Amino acid sequence: MPSFVIQEKCDGCKEQDRVSCVYICPNNLMALDKDSKKAVNQEVDQCWECYSCVKICPQHAVEVRAYADIVPMDGSVVPLRGSDSIVWTIKFRNGNVKKFKFPIRTTVEGSINPYAGKPEADISKLDSPGFFNMDSAYMPRISD
Ligand code: SF4
Ligand code: SF4
Repeated sequence: MPSFVIQEKCDGCKEQDRVSCVYICPNNLMALDKDSKKAVNQEVDQCWECYSCVKICPQHAVEVRAYADIVPMDGSVVPLRGSDSIVWTIKFRNGNVKKFKFPIRTTVEGSINPYAGKPEADISKLDSPGFFNMDSAYMPRISD
């Protein structure tokens, strides 16, 4: 189920330098509309359904679009993110409502430095096999 932005709730991250959902989407699907200053999922059929945008949005403006077989029947899937958990409220076609609560990672946005403690990359070795932070002596070799 792909995500979509509730336009009434989105404040465009208050036009700050970094728009959270645009920043976090691993598939570059979220974009800020120039005119409305609100975010949109510009290609929902390409959505990985990772829900990173759902979890990071400070306005709780990103919901999950339920499949067409439950929407016309009044079903819905609504996430509500807390500081350490996310609650999914599922409304079924028959009117039953169930809530599921899961813990979420609490790492502060932007606080991770994936290159900390790693050596500088050597561009002259760009064509060499392996990874810049691994000793080539330990790299697997393709035998003839
Ligand atoms: Fe709007 Fe939320 Fe995206 Fe910010 S993170 S632009 S409030 S949808
Ligand atoms: Fe991008 Fe994941 Fe949100 Fe889909 S659910 S728009 S892939 S961040």
